[in-house]
Amino acid sequence: MSPRSAGISARKHAVTSRKRTPGIPRDVRRIGVFGGTFDPIHLGHLRCAEEAREQLGLDHVLFIPAADPPHKPHRRIIPAHHRLAMVKLAAAGNPRFRVSSIEIERSGPSYTIDTLRSLRLRLGPAVQLTMLLGLDAFRDIGTWKEYRALFPLADVAVWGRPGETRNRSRGLLPVAARADFCYAKNQITLLHNTGTRIQFLTVTALDISASDIRSRLQRGRSVRYLLPSAVERYATREGLYRGRAVS
Ligand code: ATP
Repeated sequence: MSPRSAGISARKHAVTSRKRTPGIPRDVRRIGVFGGTFDPIHLGHLRCAEEAREQLGLDHVLFIPAADPPHKPHRRIIPAHHRLAMVKLAAAGNPRFRVSSIEIERSGPSYTIDTLRSLRLRLGPAVQLTMLLGLDAFRDIGTWKEYRALFPLADVAVWGRPGETRNRSRGLLPVAARADFCYAKNQITLLHNTGTRIQFLTVTALDISASDIRSRLQRGRSVRYLLPSAVERYATREGLYRGRAVS
């Protein structure tokens, strides 16, 4: 595993909890944490990550493919090592992008709370973590394991996906969490009572979804310009989606 994309070794983590994440330089202060199924990763993911990085002044965006996404229990997902390989290929050209295999190396369902706790331990309190996610994922946050415990651990940056009405209100939060937040002066940012915040970003809307790409590949249709060509070549070479039932 190359140092640039190695991610976090679960084995090492157990014995050296305060060691830095491999591939993340010591002087890094702000990291965007971008989790997803990435089945496969596409230009919609990459463009949002790049714009969030720029708007938030992040040193790096850390892509974290989920091993076993708890919110997609009924879907057949491509094996994690293939999704990780595709994310690494997609991130390879951007010096500000990093990839972590932390969720893949951990056994059991990929809960974000476990990942954030682990990153926090590993990186120390001085590094600012920002969880990056689309509005569709944010709307479901109330169903995530220990979701209220996420907010003190990291800032959150949310962007709308194409076709979604822009809604920047506290009403997007699960009812039980609303009292933990108030509005910042700009009326856009929500401030958590521990000092972290939720920001709503405007990013270039690329109407691309992994499910559409899977469906095209399954039917032998072109996916050119929807995902990086190295990812397309990998998926084709490995025959990842061809002939699979798409869900
Ligand atoms: P699927 O179509 O299989 O549901 P997906 O394309 O939504 O997959 P995920 O891996 O589930 O991809 O998404 C990971 C994160 O990326 C989520 O926070 C999601 O909101 C965001 N995201 C996915 N596609 C886009 C896109 N085209 N534009 C902006 N955000 C996106």
